[in-house]
Amino acid sequence: MANTDRTKMLIEDKDLFAKVEDAETGYPRISSVSHSTLKGTPYLQETGMALLSGPSVHLEGLRDFLDGFAPELDFPQYLVDDTEIDSGALICKTAGQLCYMSFSPKRTKNEDAARYFENIKQSGHGSVLEHANYTFLFYGISRSVTHELVRHRAGFGYSQVSQRYVSGKVLRFVERPEYAQDAELHSAFENRIDHAAADYAATTERLLAQQKSGDTLLSADARTDLRKKVQQAARSLLPNEAEAPIIVTGNARAWRHFIEMRASAHAEIEIRSLAFRTYLCLARVDPMLFGDYDIVPLADGTYAVHTEYPKV
Ligand SMILES: Cc1cc2nc3c(=O)[nH]c(=O)nc-3n(C[C@H](O)[C@H](O)[C@H](O)COP(=O)(O)OP(=O)(O)OC[C@H]3O[C@@H](n4cnc5c(N)ncnc54)[C@H](O)[C@@H]3O)c2cc1C
Repeated sequence: MANTDRTKMLIEDKDLFAKVEDAETGYPRISSVSHSTLKGTPYLQETGMALLSGPSVHLEGLRDFLDGFAPELDFPQYLVDDTEIDSGALICKTAGQLCYMSFSPKRTKNEDAARYFENIKQSGHGSVLEHANYTFLFYGISRSVTHELVRHRAGFGYSQVSQRYVSGKVLRFVERPEYAQDAELHSAFENRIDHAAADYAATTERLLAQQKSGDTLLSADARTDLRKKVQQAARSLLPNEAEAPIIVTGNARAWRHFIEMRASAHAEIEIRSLAFRTYLCLARVDPMLFGDYDIVPLADGTYAVHTEYPKV
């Protein structure tokens, strides 16, 4: 069975994919709701995400180039293909076919694109997968997870909330599943974040008072810099449990590597959840690029993925 067919079956069978909303729009999301302690400190218990941007392809732009070759090669008919494939697969296939000038009528047509990508993955010619970029918003993730996430360098861009710039008004926390499932640990978590939020507010207030009374270390010329001077000091007391929303852009090759490294039994549980959910979204968006993964249930109730074609 082709990997794409296998993914379609998985998508239909698994409740897991039910978490993915709006997949039919091409911009899937997995929502995560904000809870609150009795004292009003907000926190989340799950990773939320939304695909904000994906590849958009205009193959018509090839026309002048294709027109410039000998008429008997019949290159312009490359632009006529009745089978639609997802944009990520389309741009990657086009890039791959440019390498061999495979624009003639004998080329691999879109209806055989699944086989084409099977060959690409099998042979490790993954550089063509770098042409499809996907941008996600991730939220409900802790500062400790984003610290691990940003270690993934090749093919990624990041924009993360600045704890120097934003105030305590947008401070939220993330509860680990180990705490959420145990009444005692959950209660300790709620007390801890109430305390952290109160401590942050009190420290900010004290630092502001010091700044107003002329403290040199806290002084600055610009108004935003004044605020930064206070918040960059006060953030030092925030725990790893502080939420750290981040927008991440990565190409398909980079996302594949991230998913393989982190939706793995060896990875830490929170980043595993992030990577697995990213996989759930991307498998819906472009099964040809992300459809070769099998879902592997782990003993702790979480999931990893496995592919025959790692690190293409
Ligand atoms: C289970 C697990 C445990 C970990 N434990 C630790 C730990 O204890 N301490 C710690 O510091 N980190 C740890 N890490 C992070 C790990 O070392 C990597 O930094 C992280 O997984 C990113 O992987 P990467 O470098 O392959 O990814 P990317 O940065 O996305 O790179 C992708 C690939 O590009 C190539 N590449 C990227 N940059 C270079 C370069 N400069 N030179 C040559 N080739 C390059 C490599 O082939 C690389 O695999 C851990 C990761 C995992 C999954």
